This record gives sequence, C-alpha cells and structure tokens, in this order.
Amino acid sequence: MPLHELTAHALHEKLKEREITAQELTEAIYERIAEVEPHVKGYLTLTKDIALEQADRADQGFQNGDEMPPLAGIPIAIKDVICTKGVRTTCGSKILDNFVPPYNATVMTKLHEQGVVMVGKTNMDEFAMGSSTENSAYQITHNPWDLDTIPGGSSGGSAAVVSADTAVCSLGSDTGGSIRQPAALCGVVGMKPTYGRVSRYGLVAFASSLDQIGPFTKDVTDCALLLNAICGSDAMDATSVDVPVPDFTQCLINDVDGLKIGVPKEYFTPALDTEIADNVHAAIAVLEELGATVEEVSLPHTEYAIATYYIIAPAEASANLARYDGVRYGYRNENPENLISMYKKTRSKGFGEEVKRRIMLGTFALSAGYQDAYYKKAQKVRTLIKSDFDAAFEKVDVIATPTSPTPAFKIGERTADPLQMYLSDVMTTPASHAGLPGISVPCGLVKSGLPIGLQLLGAPFAEENVLRVAYTFEQNTEYHQQKPEIQTNGVG
Ligand code: GLN
Repeated sequence: MPLHELTAHALHEKLKEREITAQELTEAIYERIAEVEPHVKGYLTLTKDIALEQADRADQGFQNGDEMPPLAGIPIAIKDVICTKGVRTTCGSKILDNFVPPYNATVMTKLHEQGVVMVGKTNMDEFAMGSSTENSAYQITHNPWDLDTIPGGSSGGSAAVVSADTAVCSLGSDTGGSIRQPAALCGVVGMKPTYGRVSRYGLVAFASSLDQIGPFTKDVTDCALLLNAICGSDAMDATSVDVPVPDFTQCLINDVDGLKIGVPKEYFTPALDTEIADNVHAAIAVLEELGATVEEVSLPHTEYAIATYYIIAPAEASANLARYDGVRYGYRNENPENLISMYKKTRSKGFGEEVKRRIMLGTFALSAGYQDAYYKKAQKVRTLIKSDFDAAFEKVDVIATPTSPTPAFKIGERTADPLQMYLSDVMTTPASHAGLPGISVPCGLVKSGLPIGLQLLGAPFAEENVLRVAYTFEQNTEYHQQKPEIQTNGVG
C-alpha cells in the first residue's frame, strides 16, 4: 500500500522500526497533494516548510531511539478555524483574509507536544456556517468520491483531505454536525467529543455553547489516538470540564456483547432516503449479530432540533461575530466617511451572504421584545431535547442513527434554498444540543457509489461506549477500507 493510504497507527510502527522516515512520509503526502489536490481543493494554505522542519525533528527523535508519542511524525491537516501561531487562519472568510494568529490554540499546543507534522489548513464554510463548504469565501471543495458533489460541511476540507489521502488525519469543529456530516459524506471516521472534553481556546467561536473540536481519521483506532492527544481540561477555557481523560485506546475492544443499542424511531421517517435507511438498519443488525441488544427508543422532541438550533446558534454567532469590526482583526474598509461607516462597510464587504443572514437572525432573536419568544423558548426546548436523551440513556448505552438524511448532493443544488441546506443537519443537531459525544463511521455506499455514515451517540463523557461499538463494527466489516477513485482527468 502506498504510504499516503496508511493509518497513523500503521505509520507509527513503520517510523518506530525505522522502515521509513517522517521526511519520506511528508514528501509522499505532498506528492499525493500535487496529484489530486487541484481536483479536490481541500486546502486553503499548505505549510510545507513547517511540515518538513517538524518531520526532521520527529526523525531525530526516532533516530535517537527516544520513546516517541503515537502521532510523532504523522502528517495532519487543521481546519482553518483553529488558531495556528504564525500561520494564516481565515475561517473561510474574507474578513480574516490577513489574520495571522499570534498564538496557538490549546489543541495545537497539544499536537505539537506529540510531534505531529502540520500539512496545512483546510477549507470550510465561512465561520463554520454551512453544510456543504460552498459558503467558503475562497473555493469550493469537491467530494473525492464524486467531484461534482459537495464534501459536506462545515469541515468539508478536513473530511475531503483524509478521504483523498492528502493527510493522514485532520481536525475539524462540530457545532451542529460539522464533523459528523462531512465524515459521513466523504466516507471517513469523524468524531465530536462531549461538550467540554476538548479545550476551545484558540477555536474561533461560532456558537460557544455548542462548538467542539474533534478528529477526522481513516479508522477508529486513529480516532482514539487523536482524542488521547487533544482531550483534557484547560484553564484557558472555562467550559472545558475537569474530568479524568481515559486512555481511549483501551476502549478499542472487539466485543459488544451485553451492550444495549437504542434505535430512535423518530430518525427513521418515511422522508429518509430508503437506501440510507436500509444500510443503517443493516449496520445495526451486524451489531446485533455480534452480541449487542438492540431496542427501539423514543426521542420525541427530535423534530424541534433544527428550529431550536437555528435560533440558538445564530444568536450566539451574532454576539461572537460582533468583534469583526475592522478595528482589531483582519479586513478594514479603506474608504469610510466616519467611524460608523467604517464598521458598516467593513462588515458588509467582509462577511458573506450566509454569515450576514445568521447575524441578522441572531440579532433579531436576541432583540428586546423577541428574546423571550425566540431565544428563551429555544433554550427551554433545548432542555427538553436533552431530557429525551437522558431518559434514553437510562435504558441503553449507545444510540444508533444515520448521520445524514442523504448522501452527498450536487454542488450548487441547495445554495439557493437555505432551509433545504439547514435540513442537512436534522440527524446531528439533536446530540449537539445535548452536548453528547458522537461518531460517524462508514457503513456502506449507495448505488451511485457515494458513502453512507452510521452515527453512534453516547451519554455525556461516555466516549468509551461509542468507540467500542464503532471499533467492533469496523473490525467486523470492510466499509472503512473502501477508497474513492478520484477522477483526476474529470471536473475539478
Ligand atoms: N451545518 C450547521 C450550520 O450551518 C452546522 C455547522 C457546524 O457544525 N459548524 O450551522
């Protein structure tokens, strides 16, 4: 197998045995980038000089026979919403076109402690608002499985580069599904940890009560390794929770005997794509054959999750994005008549359509006279959604659903209809409201050849159950080994 196709854990063995060097591995990844990246367009910035330097440092450690961490020398891509010291961080927005953070996000500091190799920064929907990565101010990322389709969003670049083997793994962020949905659509593993598991320090804020950072990987073992690297409380993020972080590789147990899996009936409506429903049912049947107990559960407030999300997330976004006024960060309009006009022109020109739509929605939902009717009510419904999950997790260990109601859709298909785009998140936003850990693992392809994701959710801080079920599924199926054939002579 070519080096760019291997998992981090397989590569670690080769690095440790000195069969390969991190330099060779990094070169192999950039060769792959030269071959397919012009068609996929997953990266906004490549950081080859930094990568080669980091690879050199890792190689010195391996050569000295030092005990090297599992991610040392592993090429990783970072969503462009995570602050990287000295490396441009745009959030997919023109307003941050020239923003070079003077500090690293906590996750970056932790990854550097592991000795990773940073390949580059990945494309995303502007400020992580979107489900297709088409809201990027810079470029459209193409799904490696079919270059005419979207990779999902908002972390579409991070999903596409792992799927296209132009990075071994990557980091994304998930507010309402932005890791799980693109992972499903690109046929890779993607996990949102419990809210509070991973520090958000240095993650540019979208909706602070929902945002979490998490990994995209080629398999569940790599997912556990990345979680080990990034989880843990942090004095710089008051919402990070001080609970012990287990060694997640200890949950990679190929056995679901005795585990209870709940299947929420509200997720399998007649509106669901039948191929997706059939595949996900078949995946759940595999787990049942392997010894899990499967039972139906009810999450009655599921239908309100999208409406609730599109009040809460824009409300928080409207507050978080108030800081982009041309004074301290990024773009500033050059021809203002006065201070107010500078704010107005900067924000009108700097933000894209969807971001402006969200700022207006959020400002309206928070305005005097409407706050109780919208924002406060949404918070109450959020509590009901969380209570549904609490009740379900009294009975079951893990909840299994499709990740996305449809496979990847065509580029341009939903851009004219924001509501249609918002419905892409119908399966992922409920768990976001409840702050739950959730993973998406590949569970097959539809007839047209596009990947399907199985979503597995756990109770807060029960990542172990989620990983165990995901790992068992993976060990007993071959879906994670399916690779796209990128049409390098076609569109793109
Ligand atoms: N697609 C959702 C949105 O547009 C979720 C985005 C995310 O999780 N960052 O808000």
